[in-house]
Amino acid sequence: MLNQPLRFLPVPGEPQVDQAPPEVRTSRRRLRACHECDWLVALPPLRPGQKADCPRCGHTLATRHHRPAQRSMALALAAMVALLLAISFPFVSFNAGGIGNRIELTQTATTLIGFHQPLVAIAVILTIAVLPGLYLLGVIWLQLGLLQGQPLPASRAIARSLAHLNPWMMADVFIIGALVSLIKVAGLAQIELGLSFWAFCAFALLLLFTTQSIDSDWMWFSLAGEPQAPEGARTGTTAAAQGLTGCPTCGLVNRLDANGRGHCSRCGERLRARLPHSLQRTWALLATAALMYIPANVYPIMTTTSLGHSSPSTIIGGVVELIQMGSWPVAAVIFVASVIVPVGKLVALSWLCLVVKRSGELNAASRTWLYRVTEFIGRWSMIDVFVVAILVALIRAGSLMSVTPGPAALAFGAVVILTMLAAMTFDPRLIWDTPPAHDPDTTQGTSG
Ligand SMILES: [Zn+2]
Ligand SMILES: [Zn+2]
Repeated sequence: MLNQPLRFLPVPGEPQVDQAPPEVRTSRRRLRACHECDWLVALPPLRPGQKADCPRCGHTLATRHHRPAQRSMALALAAMVALLLAISFPFVSFNAGGIGNRIELTQTATTLIGFHQPLVAIAVILTIAVLPGLYLLGVIWLQLGLLQGQPLPASRAIARSLAHLNPWMMADVFIIGALVSLIKVAGLAQIELGLSFWAFCAFALLLLFTTQSIDSDWMWFSLAGEPQAPEGARTGTTAAAQGLTGCPTCGLVNRLDANGRGHCSRCGERLRARLPHSLQRTWALLATAALMYIPANVYPIMTTTSLGHSSPSTIIGGVVELIQMGSWPVAAVIFVASVIVPVGKLVALSWLCLVVKRSGELNAASRTWLYRVTEFIGRWSMIDVFVVAILVALIRAGSLMSVTPGPAALAFGAVVILTMLAAMTFDPRLIWDTPPAHDPDTTQGTSG
């Protein structure tokens, strides 16, 4: 044991980063505190293709991949090429009675500015192109350094930002929005998909694979090694009970000061035992989202002008129109994304906030499951905002046929972002806090 701890320190003349999994490079027990229930466990040795789950709540603590750096690098480069193709060629064109329009991807955002919807435009361009682009550049920069065996400058800051960017990238949601828009228009005009459309589909898929390929446990170990676990840390109980906390970014277990604050000794992230004022912040965001949901439904989300006749439509109105057109599946998609998901999120998070103080070990697992679902589905509500962005940019043939955005687009976009923030500020560890620590099962699960 005593002659081992120096193994991952750089040897002069040798690359600083080797590609072996962290378990091979250290003989220390690597402790982790589950992000969702705060249970302290020792990570078991993982072979490529294996993952370690929390024995208490089932949350995945670490996933090991084959050749993690090469894999992420290849996927990120391919996704970047697809993104560049997607913004360089025509996205989609329409033609109705000889009058038509052809748009590029970025016009789905820029056209909105012309209709005095700069905030919606910014939300669209950030979520579909800018943030994913930054994310991919970050991944390429990081992995390039790791592949060379010498992390490039700013690697830690970039690695820290990647996790924060993740939920705000919505290329996959945009694809569904594009399909819904095209089905809406298909009956009225001839639609032609451009090269950029297919490139964007490839980009959305590759981006998803890239985010899944990131082995952050391996990455942080390779960037900064694994500092010794705090003195006296015991597994099989919560981290908070011992004055410890798991870093939300790199996973390292750190000791907090007397006020329950600290900074991660490996990545520098600000640490708290629990998210500060979690319930109050979640309540405030939920209340604002619920208020915004009223104008989102009362005002029109877009106005369609056809042969000089304007007809504004609300979110529900749009669903009814689709049903009248016979497009049941699309109507169902919009209804689920724009009504069921946001209302369900508001209700589910409010209920979690209400009952969190009366949580018990028996129902904690199902409540954590509900929280995970709420967190996962939130971004899919953006579909309707993307539909508006695409139709407004595409359908521009003057009085013959045109679509303009309505005030509900901004209100509804705000609902989506506010409910996403509400899910992020809710600390799922509170669900597990109240019951007295329940001991017996302290073994860690490893599954393939
Ligand atoms: Zn857990
Ligand atoms: Zn950290």
